[in-house]
Order: sequence, then C-alpha cells, then structure tokens
Amino acid sequence: MKSMILTKPKKLEIQDSPIPKFGKNEVLIRVKACGICGSDVHGYDGSSGRRIPPLIMGHEAAGTIEACGSEVTGFGVGDRVTFDSTVYCGQCDYCTKGQVNLCDDRMVLGVSCGEYRRHGAFAEFVTVPAHILYPLPVGFPFEHAAMIEAVSVAVHAVGRIGISPGDISMVVGVGMIGLLVVQALKAAGCLQVIAVDIDNDRLELAKKLGATGAINSKDKDVVEEVLARTEGRSVDSSFEVVGATPTVQSAVHAVRKGGSVVLVGNLAPEVGLPLQAVVTRELSLFGTCASAGEYPKCIELMSSGAIRVEPLISATVSLEEGPSWFERLHKRERGLMKIILNP
Ligand SMILES: [Zn+2]
Ligand SMILES: [Zn+2]
Repeated sequence: MKSMILTKPKKLEIQDSPIPKFGKNEVLIRVKACGICGSDVHGYDGSSGRRIPPLIMGHEAAGTIEACGSEVTGFGVGDRVTFDSTVYCGQCDYCTKGQVNLCDDRMVLGVSCGEYRRHGAFAEFVTVPAHILYPLPVGFPFEHAAMIEAVSVAVHAVGRIGISPGDISMVVGVGMIGLLVVQALKAAGCLQVIAVDIDNDRLELAKKLGATGAINSKDKDVVEEVLARTEGRSVDSSFEVVGATPTVQSAVHAVRKGGSVVLVGNLAPEVGLPLQAVVTRELSLFGTCASAGEYPKCIELMSSGAIRVEPLISATVSLEEGPSWFERLHKRERGLMKIILNP
C-alpha cells in the first residue's frame, strides 16, 4: 500500500509498505481522509520524542471498513467510520469510569514513543481495534470526520465545567482548537463568548463562528476590556488555549470570583500562575486532555451545524503532497489551520 513514512526527523517519504495485519478484534480501514495534527508537526522534527522513526503518523482519520477480524461485531465491510485517536484498554480503573483519555495503557495512533509504536493513518490502510470505531451518518463528509478528533477536544474541554444558560465565557487563543471551543461554548448555551488573540484574522473568524466579542491583546488590556464589556461583572469562565504565562494570567485575572479557568493549551511546560488571585478569589482550575467518548455528541453538533469545521480546513490534498505541507506547517506559514490528506 501507499504510505507516508517518517524515515528520520523532518524526512517524510512516500513508500510502498505492506498492508497491516489485523487481529480478531480489529478492523482494516481504507483511509479516505486524515488530518495533520499540530502534535504531528511538532513531533516530526524529533523534538517531542513521540514520533520516533520509522513511523506512519496520522490519528485524525476516517474511511471505510475493508476487512473485519473474526470476532468483530456491530460493524461490517463497507461501513463508513471514524475512530478515536486513542487506543484505550477498556479494562483499567479509568476506562471503567469512562475516563478513557486517562487510560493506564493508552496508545495513540501514529505515535512511537519508545514504549510503543502504533502506525497511523497517513496511508491507504490502517488497522484499529473495533471498540474505538464510530459509525458516520449518511452524507457526513470524510474530511469533516477527520476533524471530529479536534472537535472532541473542544467539546471535552467545555464539558469539564458546567455552563449555565446566560454565562459569559472567554477563550484566550483562537487558533483551530480555540475556534472550536468558541463554538462548543455557544452550543452549550453561553450567552456571550469573548475571543482573545493577537491575530486580527483569527479574531474575525472567531466572530464569524459565534464569538460575541473580540479583543486583540496586543492593542488592549484584556482585563480592563472584559470589565468594560461585561458591565464590571467579569466572565464566569475562561478557556486558555495557548499555554504561556501572559495568556494564563489573562485567563485567571478576567474571571469573576468563584469562576472557573480551563487550561487547554500546554505550549510551555511551566508558567507563572497568579496564585493569590486564584486563592483569594476562590477560582477553580481545570486541566483537560484529549476526549473521553464525546465523538457521537460531536457528530451530532457538526451535523446540526452548531459546530462548523469547513472554515477551519485550509486545504485538502493528496498523500504525495503531504511532505511539502508538513514543511509549510512546520515553518508556521501564516493563516494555515487544518490540512487534510486524502490517501
Ligand atoms: Zn490530533
Ligand atoms: Zn484503560
């Protein structure tokens, strides 16, 4: 089969590789669309230690079932499916509580980190265990299905706190995940969602996708602006989708007493936390990672149009064009969001 293999750091090659074997509880999927994730771009230069070559990356994918293992039930050849990016065990304490994103034996597709190597979906075929499959509704585009993983990260983040109708929330950092968080907050019933970023194009897009206000933190003091726009009330919750000291500080200082700060971004391993503001104003801080079974809900939100992914897809290209798009993404070319490969 045709595959895009990471042969050494920053070197992707289109190669012919054997069709992967599948176990009795696994299915072989013909990949129709697979998104390039930020973690792939970040990891392919070797810096994260989670993409050790040789590896076929790719974990945001969808396709049709080509063959089923002998013990697979509920799915058949030809079914249109997507699948969780996480292969969880289903047996550990976390899995039995539904916290599959925290599974003790978690493997991510298209990741090779020393403990394991699990080839992903930048190829004509990929194998996945049947228990991580989700059926796609008729007419649901494969390219949109490749975005479900990203949508699920946003929906899971919003699900970490309770949103009451009429809440005001703020999203600091409206890159792709931030833009999905904006939409997930509106879908959850937030009356107002204020987007904060340093890029006016992204802020414009946030407004198109439902943000009720936008603040460019290069030009304005975020906390003052938030107070002015909420009649001195501040926001009930904030979502930090960058992972750096200044943005964490904005996210903390703009929240009302007793409010919640959800930490999604993790660019920096450590940040300066305004401790006294958290303690004396009795704020709740929430970490959030990946998703835990939100795929069906995401499919619903996307089918109804409550969450739109089309504006976030910068290009859909062939597998052969993958290596050059990785380079462009790695150089942080302006304005690029999701690139989807059609193997
Ligand atoms: Zn991803
Ligand atoms: Zn588990």
